[in-house]
Amino acid sequence: MRLVRLALQLRRWRPQRLSSRIVALFLGLLLAVQLASFAAVHWSIEGNARLRLAQDLEVGERVWARLLAQRAHKLTLDATLLAADYGFRGAAASGDIDTLRSALANHGARIGATVTAMLGPDLALRALGEATDPAALDALRPLAPQLAEQGSALALVGGRPFQVVLVPVKAPLRVGYVVMGFALDASLLDELRAVTGLHATVLVRPRGAAEQAWLSTLPPAATRELLLGLQAPAAGPDSAADAAGAAIAASGSHALSLAGSPHVVRSLVLIGASADTPAAAAPLRTVLLRSVADAVAPYRPLQATLAALTLGGLLLAGAAGVFTARRVTTPLRSLVRASEQLGRGDYGVAMRHTERHDEIGELARSFDLMRVSIAAHGAEIRQLAYWDRLTGLPNQAQFRDAVRQAIAAASGSGSPVAVVMLDLDRFKHVNDVLGYAFGDRLLQGVAQRLSGHLRRPGDLVARLSGDEFGLLLPGSDAAQALAMAERLSDVFELPMTLDDHTVDLAAGFGVACWPLHAGDADTLISRAEVAMYTAKRKTSAALIYDPASDVGSALTLSLLSELRRALENDELRLYLQPKVALGGARAGRLVGAEALVRWQHPSRGLLQPNEFIPFAEQTGFVRLLTLWMLEASAREWPRLRGLGIHRVSVNLSTRDLLDSELPAKIDRILRGHAMPTSALCLELTESAIMEEPQRAEATLNALSQAGFKLSIDDFGTGYSSLAYLKRLPVDELKIDKSFVLAMEHDEDDAAIVRSTIDLAHNLGLSVVAEGVENAAVMARLAELDCDEAQGYHISRPLPVAELAAFAARWRGGVVQAEAETALAN
Ligand code: C2E
Ligand code: CA
Ligand code: CA
Repeated sequence: MRLVRLALQLRRWRPQRLSSRIVALFLGLLLAVQLASFAAVHWSIEGNARLRLAQDLEVGERVWARLLAQRAHKLTLDATLLAADYGFRGAAASGDIDTLRSALANHGARIGATVTAMLGPDLALRALGEATDPAALDALRPLAPQLAEQGSALALVGGRPFQVVLVPVKAPLRVGYVVMGFALDASLLDELRAVTGLHATVLVRPRGAAEQAWLSTLPPAATRELLLGLQAPAAGPDSAADAAGAAIAASGSHALSLAGSPHVVRSLVLIGASADTPAAAAPLRTVLLRSVADAVAPYRPLQATLAALTLGGLLLAGAAGVFTARRVTTPLRSLVRASEQLGRGDYGVAMRHTERHDEIGELARSFDLMRVSIAAHGAEIRQLAYWDRLTGLPNQAQFRDAVRQAIAAASGSGSPVAVVMLDLDRFKHVNDVLGYAFGDRLLQGVAQRLSGHLRRPGDLVARLSGDEFGLLLPGSDAAQALAMAERLSDVFELPMTLDDHTVDLAAGFGVACWPLHAGDADTLISRAEVAMYTAKRKTSAALIYDPASDVGSALTLSLLSELRRALENDELRLYLQPKVALGGARAGRLVGAEALVRWQHPSRGLLQPNEFIPFAEQTGFVRLLTLWMLEASAREWPRLRGLGIHRVSVNLSTRDLLDSELPAKIDRILRGHAMPTSALCLELTESAIMEEPQRAEATLNALSQAGFKLSIDDFGTGYSSLAYLKRLPVDELKIDKSFVLAMEHDEDDAAIVRSTIDLAHNLGLSVVAEGVENAAVMARLAELDCDEAQGYHISRPLPVAELAAFAARWRGGVVQAEAETALAN
C-alpha cells in the first residue's frame, strides 16, 4: 500500500524548476544512451560466449573421441603383450577350456580387464574368463565382426559400459583371438575435463531400463538434474541470444538450465540403438556441458569496467547539468527577484548581470533600461499628478490631500483649518484678447504674488484650475482667513505690468472653515468655492461661506421626476426675446428672436431657466427639453414669420452636441412645420463645445451642412480663442452680456467688445450683443458696427402671445422711436 502511494507520488512529481528540468533532461538522455550501449555490449558478450561454448563443445567431442581412441590403442597394446605371452599362448593352444579361462582371468587382471574371452579363428566364442560376467556372452557375440574389423569397440556388459579390444593369438599360427573389456572409469572423464574444462557425464540405457548416469564429473545433485533436463523435451534456443542460440543449435548443441544457471550441452552417442533413433534413446552416450557463466566469466571485468564508466559518466553529466543549469538559472532568479522589486515600485536598485555577453546579459540590460525609464516616467507622472506645470504650484490633487492631512492633524488639537478660494475676474477675456502666452505669464505672476504673501509654515497655495487658486491656512479661523483674503484682495488691486501691458487684476475670494462649515476636506473646499461664487456675484472682494446662499441639494432630488412630469403635463413655456438689427437696410427693425424656456411649476410658479437648466444638463434631460423647444419654436414659425422675424435662435447644451442623431431630429421637426433650415439658428457656448471638442465638432459640421446657422453664445466667458473658433463652421458671435452691461462704464470692457466685433467681422462672422439694457449702449454698439442687439432695452423675453403686441408697438414706432433716437445719439 505504501509502495503504491510512493509510486503515485513519483508519477505526480514533475521537476518544477528550470534547473531541475535541465539536469533531469541531461541525466535522462545520458542514462538512456548508456543503458542502450551497456545492454548491447552485454548481449553481444553473452552471445559470443555461447557461440564460443558451442565451439568448445565441438572441440570437446573431438578430444573425447581422441581420448577413447588413445585408450583403445593402449588397451590393444596391453592385450597384444598378453597375447604374446608364452604361458598364455600355451594355454590357448592347449585347447583346455579350464586352463584357458583361468589364464584369461589371470592375465586380464594383470592389465585391468574385467571382461575377458577367447574367440576361435572363426570368431566363434570359445571361452569366457573365469571372473567374467556371463552376460558378456550376449554382448560380445554380435560385436565380434566389428571387433575383427576395427580392433576395438564400446559395449554394455551387464548394463555397464566397457571398452573392448580384440587381438589375434599366434602360437605361432593364429589359433584365435583374445577379447579384453575394460570398464569405462572416471579417469577418462577427469582427463577430458582437465584438457577441455568441460564437464562430462556418461549415460547408459540398459535394455528395457531408463537411462542413468554411469560416470560424471558433476556433483551427484547436478547429475540428477541433468538427467531430468535431458529427458524433458529439448528447450528452444535461449530467446535472449537468438542468433547465438541458432548457431548453437546448428552445431548440434543445445541450451539447458542447470542449478538455475544456463548451460550448453552436447550429446555424443557412443553406442547407437539404430541409425535413426535420437541420441536420447542411445544405450550409451556421453554428454558434454559447460555453464554459460563460466564462459562469460572472462568478460566480467570488462562489463564491470563498463558499468563503472557508465556510473562515472552519469555523475559527471549530472554535475555538468547542475553547473550549466545554475549558470543559467541563478541570474534568471536574480532577475526575477529584481523584477519583483520593480513590481513593488522600487526602482532604485540596478539590475545585476548586465555585464554578461549572452542572452541573459541582454535580458538584464533591457530590464535595466526598463527600470530606468519606468522610474523616469514615474517621476514625471508624480510631477504631473501633484504639481501644476505652469506655475510650479501644487495642483488640485495635492491641495485636496493637504487639506485632508491638515484636518486629520487638527482633529486632535481642535484648532480650525481654513480654506480660501479665489477666482480671477475676466481672466478669459484677457486670454482671448492678449493671447494665451500672455495669460500664462499673468497666471505665473499671480502665483508669485500669492506665494509671496504666505509666510506661516504649513500654509499652502495651489492652482486648482484655469484661473482658480486655493489657499490652505491651518490654524486660522474664519475671521483670520477673511482678513487674509482681504489683504490679498488689496494686493490684487495693484496693477500688474507684463511686457508693455498693464493689467488691472481683481479676484473673488471665498472663505470656509473646518469644523465650522464642513466636516471633511471635499465639502470644505466646495463650501469655499460656493462662498467665492457668491462673492463674485455680489461683487464683494471676499465672503465667508453662508449656508443660506447655498442652494439646498435635497431640492434637486425630486426635480428630475418633476421635470419629466412637466413635459407630460405641458408645463414648459416658450418665451421669445426679440433681436433687432443695428445697421444695414433693416436697421432698427425686428429681425429675430431667441427662444428661452420657462417652467410653469404647479406649486412654485413660473421658474426661470437658471433654476432647472443646470440640473437638466447634469441629468441629460436637457436633450428632451431642446427637442421640446425646437418643436414649440417650429410650431410658432408661421406666426413669427408674420411678425417680420426671419430667424429663431434656440439654445443647445453640451449633451445635445454629443448626439450624432441631432441634425436628423431637427430636420424632421422643421419639416413637420414647413420651417426652412436657414430660419433656425442654434446657440451654443464655448464651454459646451470644449467639453468634448472632437465629437462636438463633428455634430457642428453636420448641423452646418444641414443648413442651420450656428452662433457662439456667451462669447468671451469661455476658454476658446477666436483662432480656434475660426475652424468651426460658425456664422455668428454673441458677445456675453457681462461685457455689454459693463461697457458703458468700463473702457476695458468696451475695448474688449470693440476688438471682438472687429475680429469677428474679419473672420466673416456677424455679431450679436446681448444684455443691451439702455439706449446709450445700443447706440454705442451701432457705432462699433455690431450687427444685432438683444436686451431688456428692446424687450424682456415674452410669451408668444405677447410678442405680437410688442411687434405692433415696435413697428408702430412707440418703442422703435426711442430706440432710433438712441441709435441717432
Ligand atoms: P442665454 O442663452 O445667454 O440667454 C440670455 C439670457 O439673458 C436670458 O435669460 C435673458 O432673459 C437674459 N437677458 C436678455 N436681455 C437681457 C438684458 O438686457 N439684461 C440682462 N441682465 N439679462 C438679459 P434667461 O432666459 O433667464 O436664460 C438664462 C439662460 O438659461 C440662458 O442664457 C440659457 O443659457 C439658458 N436657457 C434658457 N432657455 C434655454 C433653453 O431652451 N435651452 C437651453 N439649453 N438653455 C436655455
Ligand atoms: Ca442664448
Ligand atoms: Ca447668452
